[in-house]
Amino acid sequence: MSLQEITARIEAAEEKAGRARGSTCLIAVSKVQPEARILAVLEAGHRVFGENRVQEALGKWPGFRERFDGIELHLIGPLQTNKARQAVELCQAIHSVDRPKLAKSLARLAQERGACPELFIQVNTGEEPQKAGILPTEADGFVADCRAMDLPLRGLMCIPPVEEEPSLHFALLAKIAERNGLTGLSMGMSGDFETAIAFGATHVRIGSAIFGDRVAAG
Ligand SMILES: *Cc1c(COP(=O)(O)O)cnc(C)c1O
Repeated sequence: MSLQEITARIEAAEEKAGRARGSTCLIAVSKVQPEARILAVLEAGHRVFGENRVQEALGKWPGFRERFDGIELHLIGPLQTNKARQAVELCQAIHSVDRPKLAKSLARLAQERGACPELFIQVNTGEEPQKAGILPTEADGFVADCRAMDLPLRGLMCIPPVEEEPSLHFALLAKIAERNGLTGLSMGMSGDFETAIAFGATHVRIGSAIFGDRVAAG
């Protein structure tokens, strides 16, 4: 699907939900995609991209940034504390704040640098043991802890279990965000972004629907 088609579908979903046009940020998830495909999306004028590994992002984006202005990078995958410094230097947003140790590292870096990317707390809405994220019952406490560390919280993020109806998870994430006074909702991927927009997503993370299937495993 083309970038234009995705944008049109996002606008239609916004309209259907009674939301303002342009109220959803489209993050084009470029992980494991060949350079030519990313280049085509950059040349079409898109500037907001998502990567799930710091190492991989460091391999491509400094080069693209020399050729294109205004690129905004969002880290959407798990972040090891030993990569936190590289992540905050490279990215404008981190969607995967998922544990106290990482929050503490980010707070230290924010103090040292006097700046910090926008942060989303990842919530494990499906309570899946293999998945990263704060459990729903622990989310309020973690939000409070992050605020006590002066971290710039933009909102919450989730990845619903593959086998389940995503809308239940989107609704849960929206509820946790609302009771914590958070407005950002990073939810919705290629298969369910229109549903996510109906439930208030402010950031959708779309990979394969824009770029085609990922070529290698990742
Ligand atoms: C890969 C990835 C996406 C994009 O998935 P698609 O189904 O290709 O749209 C979104 N969010 C996260 C966290 C991802 O790792």
